[in-house]
Amino acid sequence: MTDIATHLKINDTFNKELPADPILENTRRQVEKAAFSYATPKKTAQPKLVSVSKETAELIGLSMEDTQTDSFLQVFTGNKVLEGTKPYAMCYGGHQFGHWAGQLGDGRAINLAEVNHKGKNWALQLKGAGPTPYSRNADGLAVLRSSIREFLCSEAMYHLGVPTTRALSLALTGDEVMRDVLYNGNSAYEKGAVVCRVAPSFIRFGNFEIFASRRDNETIKQLADYTIKHHYPHLGEPSKETYIAFLKEVSERTLKMIVHWQRVGFVHGVMNTDNLSILGLTIDYGPYGWLEGYDHGWTPNTTDNQQKRYRYENQPDIGLWNLLKLANALYPLIEEAAPLEAILHEYKAAYAPAYQEMMKAKLGLDKDYAEDAALIQQLEEALHLTETDMTIFFRNLANFKKETNIDSAVDKNFLNPVLAAFYKPEELTGNILVHWKGWFKNYAARLKAASLDDAARKAEMNAVNPKYVLRNYMAQVAIDAADTGDYSVINDFLELLRQPYAEQPAMEKWFAKRPEWARHKVGCSMLSCSS
Ligand code: AMP
Ligand code: MG
Repeated sequence: MTDIATHLKINDTFNKELPADPILENTRRQVEKAAFSYATPKKTAQPKLVSVSKETAELIGLSMEDTQTDSFLQVFTGNKVLEGTKPYAMCYGGHQFGHWAGQLGDGRAINLAEVNHKGKNWALQLKGAGPTPYSRNADGLAVLRSSIREFLCSEAMYHLGVPTTRALSLALTGDEVMRDVLYNGNSAYEKGAVVCRVAPSFIRFGNFEIFASRRDNETIKQLADYTIKHHYPHLGEPSKETYIAFLKEVSERTLKMIVHWQRVGFVHGVMNTDNLSILGLTIDYGPYGWLEGYDHGWTPNTTDNQQKRYRYENQPDIGLWNLLKLANALYPLIEEAAPLEAILHEYKAAYAPAYQEMMKAKLGLDKDYAEDAALIQQLEEALHLTETDMTIFFRNLANFKKETNIDSAVDKNFLNPVLAAFYKPEELTGNILVHWKGWFKNYAARLKAASLDDAARKAEMNAVNPKYVLRNYMAQVAIDAADTGDYSVINDFLELLRQPYAEQPAMEKWFAKRPEWARHKVGCSMLSCSS
């Protein structure tokens, strides 16, 4: 019988080089002066593998054949601990919705091990594998619904070219888990599941903040030195300058990640500092969502309904807010505010040009032309006038011909290439039509001034404007099918989202506006943190 351990090259560093919690009992408590606590995954009743990402398996050196073994199933549902490994839960804190929340930690994530493949180290982490010292008053488990969402979206984001943690496998545990989906007193049993996540590291901003909050400068230094040694080795030996350079690069990576989110219309939903990766990876797929109607004020997270702190347009500012908290946590290592403030100012200054560059790419405009800000703003205004599907609009805009004569176009014919993006085309009259006409005239004029012909521009636009994203209702379609025992939709979507920029004629039905039934349905446009 295959032992999956023989196919994995274990190379633990985090739990070997950083201070461990000396208490071994799995009891819920405050953990001081330790980067992690040992924790063993809970055994599951009847594990069943639902889906595997081939690309992520390859990252860690496993073939698809390896993933179909019983040994794989037992290890990646937590039933068997890999020989020579000591699974653990990380200690971190965080600012949640703008407020310091104290110790949080891996309450329902257990790191199995790090493995090395082709010279790279990958941490393997089970999400939903039972309680740890950080579980507070919750159960450490995850339900199938949220696990499908995490599994599919991690891989979809990777294929979209967005920095992200990865997902190796999705498995049912066979256990039942009690959840109150909308926090309204209606609890019910749901199927339990476990996702194995993979990333170079799962360290978050909050890992640094927890020690800063306790004035534990020694552990902050240990953690910073570890992070730089393994994940930012090009920055050199630890020193004040290195810590400054470290914050600078984290800031640049965070900005880059958020610009990608804006490009594809991804709204994270819970950008608390414990959900921001120190590597600039999208992490913790909870109540995230995708812009359907292009609406800068939208957030999928019902828990954030009042303030909408984590709405689409606020993501860049929240990135900065979170970096300020990280800078505060690193301050004891630097003891000088000016270089830290300079980094935060640079983030602020860099965002607008980065956003402009990204939007120009979406519009097929060349980079070195300074006059496009007004055109972009005019478009954003137009997109808000009547509900317009972001993905369809940008994808189909590539079919616009620059020689189109907008003035002599009959009625609204000039909108034909993008007509499918409008939820209520009948609203395209009066001022709304005038606005669109104005924008398309400016756009056509701009395209004529550029050197690209229509075909070349289309190819460039199609490489940045995805055809397929994990629309909110699609995740729910996969979940509803899985609830009836049909897991094929998960695998269909995994396949579809492998090539989000390609035309896939057989899958065209997923290049469509959200159906009306999904507009206010729980799970489609309304999601809570209950998972
Ligand atoms: P999240 O909102 O998923 O980022 O989680 C915030 C904090 O709550 C983290 O410390 C999680 O580990 C913890 N948490 C969330 N759900 C659970 C759960 N079911 N059991 C234990 N801890 C949880
Ligand atoms: Mg989290």
